Amino acid sequence: MAKTLLIIEDNEQNYYMMRYLLEKKGFKVIGAENGKLGVEAALQHKPDAILLDIQLPEMDGYAVAAELKKHADLANVPIIAVTSYAMVGDREHILAAGATGYIEKPINPDTFVAEISQFVGQDSAKPE
Ligand code: MN
Repeated sequence: MAKTLLIIEDNEQNYYMMRYLLEKKGFKVIGAENGKLGVEAALQHKPDAILLDIQLPEMDGYAVAAELKKHADLANVPIIAVTSYAMVGDREHILAAGATGYIEKPINPDTFVAEISQFVGQDSAKPE
């Protein structure tokens, strides 16, 4: 069964690029455009992993990660923060807030899906 990823991202271009790359490899993708909707979608869909932007309307990524960690049924769902290259301090902050790991923006289309697959396992992804 295809693994389901939730992308919480307010930038449409980033969202569509991540979605395109992941769907091409066989993942099912759900999107949320702000932090509040992202928490709701996580609780409703119980995705296999969550890709989390930091700068978001309504609730920022730190607040979203902290909120998700309060729910026992989401405790084992990896949260992958998508952080800007320059924001080194933010990475420590988001890991402390509950993220499992992070990847850097801008997204590199050549390595993005492989990086995400490390967090969710490769078995559902289509081969090259
Ligand atoms: Mn953003």
